[in-house]
Amino acid sequence: MMSATATPQEELRELYRELILDHARKPRHFGRLSHASHVAEGINPLCGDKLKLYLDIDADSTIRDAAFEGSGCAISVASASLLTETVIGMPAAEALSFFEAIVATLAGNDQQRSVELGKLSALMGVREYPSRVKCASLAWHALHSAIKDDSEPATTE
Ligand code: ZN
Repeated sequence: MMSATATPQEELRELYRELILDHARKPRHFGRLSHASHVAEGINPLCGDKLKLYLDIDADSTIRDAAFEGSGCAISVASASLLTETVIGMPAAEALSFFEAIVATLAGNDQQRSVELGKLSALMGVREYPSRVKCASLAWHALHSAIKDDSEPATTE
C-alpha cells in the first residue's frame, strides 16, 4: 500500500502495479473473436505463457476489433489485455510501431521510441526482472505475427 512518505517514483510504481493487477484479474477483450481476419499464437516456454490473439483488420488496414484467449502469468495476461485496449481502432502500421517501441523499451533501449507509451509504461516495471520481460513482450510478438500473417507461432525464444 502507498505510504504517506512514498516518493513520486514509488507512487508511480504502485499505480503501475495496480494497473497490471487489475488487467490480470479482469482481462479486457478476453475470448475468441468470431470475425477475426488475422490470428496468431504466442508461446513463452520459459514461463508457460500461451495465448492466441485475434484481430479484425478491415480493408483500410485499420484494426476494428481485437481479442485474446489463453493462460499465463499475471504479466502476460495484463500485457495482452493492455494490447487489445491499445490497438482497437488503430491503423495496423501504427500498431506495429507500438510493437517496436514496446520490444525496444523492454530491452532497455529508450532512444528509438516512435510512439507515446502512455499506460503501457506500466509494463516497463518488469525491466527490473529480466526473466519476466518475455512475459510482457509475448502478446506484442503475437501482434506482429498476426499483422504480418506469419503462420508460425510467435515464440519469445
Ligand atoms: Zn509469464
